[in-house]
Amino acid sequence: MKFSEVIGQGELKQKLIQSVIDNRISHAQMFLGNEGNGKLAVALAFAQFIMCENKQQDDSCGECSSCKRIQKLIHPDLHFSYPIINVKSGSGKPKCTDFIEPWRNFINESKGYPTYQGWLSSIEADNKQGNIPISECHDIIHKLNMKSYESEFKILIMWLPEFLGKEGNALLKLIEEPPNNTLFLFVAEDADKILNTIVSRTQIVKVPRLNDEDLSVALKDHGVQDDGQMSSIVRLANGNWNKAKALLNKEVAKATFSQWLANSLNNRPDNIFQDMETISHQPKEEQKDFLLYGLSFFRELLLFVSTNSQHQPNCTDNELILMQKLQSKVTVDSLKKVSKLFDQSHYHIERNANSRILFMNLAIQTKLTLL
Ligand SMILES: [Zn+2]
Repeated sequence: MKFSEVIGQGELKQKLIQSVIDNRISHAQMFLGNEGNGKLAVALAFAQFIMCENKQQDDSCGECSSCKRIQKLIHPDLHFSYPIINVKSGSGKPKCTDFIEPWRNFINESKGYPTYQGWLSSIEADNKQGNIPISECHDIIHKLNMKSYESEFKILIMWLPEFLGKEGNALLKLIEEPPNNTLFLFVAEDADKILNTIVSRTQIVKVPRLNDEDLSVALKDHGVQDDGQMSSIVRLANGNWNKAKALLNKEVAKATFSQWLANSLNNRPDNIFQDMETISHQPKEEQKDFLLYGLSFFRELLLFVSTNSQHQPNCTDNELILMQKLQSKVTVDSLKKVSKLFDQSHYHIERNANSRILFMNLAIQTKLTLL
């Protein structure tokens, strides 16, 4: 990605760019900071800038063959290391390249703003914990000792070196005396959990939390127009873009759900079809948010109905209006059934069901069940 695609972090970007211009790039750097501040995005943009064949004054070109391949995470001289899980395979020596396809998809979907839990769920780790095993360390040594293919530089980006156990000491010699033009970019959240021997061999690059102004600009780019909504998300996100995005998705889920429910119940087939298209093109996380929001709405409505409006629902004014409209039409039984439908749909979306069919079916079943 280009620096211009990274949210905020202006000062840090300038410092990194200057280090390339001055030709004093430190060969082992540790980008350190809290989740959601964009440190992996910064490392990716930095690697792309270093390798770009047509550098602009303050960014990579984004067009040359090197940039294009880095954007797809397929450049042969840009390597990645990240926590992986032990899957029972024939060789018994897991390494990160075994997971390179899911990794590319994951980074692409998260647009360079990954979370550890998100990564584990994308490789269906279930209850397994991630680890960067010794077999991966050996693979890193092997890869970095080979001649570079195309670029002047070879770069390894290691995401979350916290998951490197004592085996990580196998890398010390390489980090200390790397082959020519070899760079290590570690991307980490908690220096206390990383081997001291590694931390002490790197230059620490502190990546601060995103400031509120930069967060607001990014939210505006994502379609937030309402000032109240903006300031509430910015306050709760506390400099964390992943949190801001999750809050935004919840707001979107609310709005989509109200519209979807109205269309489903009013029997407007064209609109239902359109809703289904919209939802089925959203990323899986947003589909899950939609279903979870629906579940919570029906739960509140169930309490509202079963207590004869005595229960004060935990909802907004618009939601209350919708509940009052539905109150006379639904029963406790039908609400339990429709909650079950949403719960089952959530289960199937997690397991990669066809979302177009699933949401169409959900619309039909909701109407049949509720009315
Ligand atoms: Zn370029």
